[in-house]
Amino acid sequence: MDEQFDHLTTQLGQIEDLRAAAEVLEWDQETYMPDGAAEARAHQIGTLRTMAHELFTEDALGELLDALSDDARDLDPLSDEASLVRVTRRDYDKARRIPADLVGAIAAAVARGKQAWRTAREEDDFSIFAPHLERLIDLNIEKAEALGYDDRIYDALLDQYEPGMTTAEVEAVFDDLRPKLVDIVEAIAAQEAPPDDVLHRHYDADQQWDFGMQVLRDFGYDFERGRQDLSTHPFTTSFSVSDVRLTTRVNEQFLPAALFGTLHECGHGLYEQGIDPALDRTPLADGTSLGMHESQSRLWENLVGRSRAFWSHYYPTLQTTFPEQLGDVALDAFYRAINRVEPSLIRVEADEVTYNLHIMLRFELEQAMVEQRVAVDDLPALWNAKMDEYLGLRPETDAEGVLQDIHWSLGAIGYFPTYALGNLMSVQIFDAAREALPDLDAQIAEGRFADLHKWLRIHIYQYGRKLQAPDLLERVTSRSLSAEPWLAYVRQKYGALYDGLR
Ligand code: ZN
Repeated sequence: MDEQFDHLTTQLGQIEDLRAAAEVLEWDQETYMPDGAAEARAHQIGTLRTMAHELFTEDALGELLDALSDDARDLDPLSDEASLVRVTRRDYDKARRIPADLVGAIAAAVARGKQAWRTAREEDDFSIFAPHLERLIDLNIEKAEALGYDDRIYDALLDQYEPGMTTAEVEAVFDDLRPKLVDIVEAIAAQEAPPDDVLHRHYDADQQWDFGMQVLRDFGYDFERGRQDLSTHPFTTSFSVSDVRLTTRVNEQFLPAALFGTLHECGHGLYEQGIDPALDRTPLADGTSLGMHESQSRLWENLVGRSRAFWSHYYPTLQTTFPEQLGDVALDAFYRAINRVEPSLIRVEADEVTYNLHIMLRFELEQAMVEQRVAVDDLPALWNAKMDEYLGLRPETDAEGVLQDIHWSLGAIGYFPTYALGNLMSVQIFDAAREALPDLDAQIAEGRFADLHKWLRIHIYQYGRKLQAPDLLERVTSRSLSAEPWLAYVRQKYGALYDGLR
């Protein structure tokens, strides 16, 4: 087995190198690349991605995995060897099931769809995007049939982003959450929102950057194995456990953009940097699902970064950094401003409480589309009706309604629910951390994060993709996915800020 296993890791190492090289080019594209290089760069990335895909789907790799699967059965399922064979096998089977001409058709439809979506949004005209969306839905249906599923067609699509989770499981949790959350939001919306004009004062970009860098260091992000740069849309990317990059954006007229964007991406970065280095250059060296990844970004952004304990430590420093803007603003007023809840039309601007309703709306609509229960032309009206039902708002334009997100134009169906799953899991995991570290709040209030970081590394990060999210969650929290801990957190935190939350 040893010789064959070495052969497998050599092969996979080369494929990972090609993928990482493509990702370095993609990172550069979003940060430093001059606009004129766009077309050349598309070719370069395309070539590397195609080579990686071809190497990964070779018959020989399948035979090697067959030969190793029998031996791996006798090993501890969590051993590096057994995990690598199991996870690679799953990836391999999926990659082989999608025919090359379907991959090509999707790539072409996405290229055109993205363009049409941009124009449609600019001109606020859904009819420009509709035929492209129809085509992308058809291709997703084809893809789901190729990938296969037991119960619902959406299962196959969800599984690309949230392996191990089924549509029925997500639906059950969302069905529990939705009515309770609609009530909470209604109770909050009936009250006057606390003022947040202090957040819209002028904040110097360099000083914002320096403050964010300080918090990154304090959280434990390792600058020997990473860096932060600017980009239009913040993201995290990893080329190796020893090279994890973050980006942020700075808005001089709105303090939370850089601040919470940085803390959010830091959570993603800590996850990637915390993966066991022994798994590097293998398919195991990645977050186990988008939902689990998002649980880590949300944990650092919201549960730590928007807590009173965190600001009782950092607010004096922030006030010293921005004396003119914040010198006359008390901690309590600042805390209320950064935790202001207000139903709004745009998902990416939504607060912690209303955010999940934006996701549930998208989850329901995209499911209905792939199950062919709704026609694309009826989408704007359905969108607006659901916005009204869940958030009490009706978009006046499709640009601030059904056309606001890029995801569908990228052919990404099954992606949206992972945001809400991340929010729910973040609280379940934080509750477990708090049980293990009884003085966690006191530590945060002193700006000490080493124990929390270490606990997360041991219980979540180190495994990479060895365990699927539902198993990992069960192992860490002794429960399966549930909306209750998140609802309890919201009722407690926002019950102190607003009246009438049960
Ligand atoms: Zn994220």
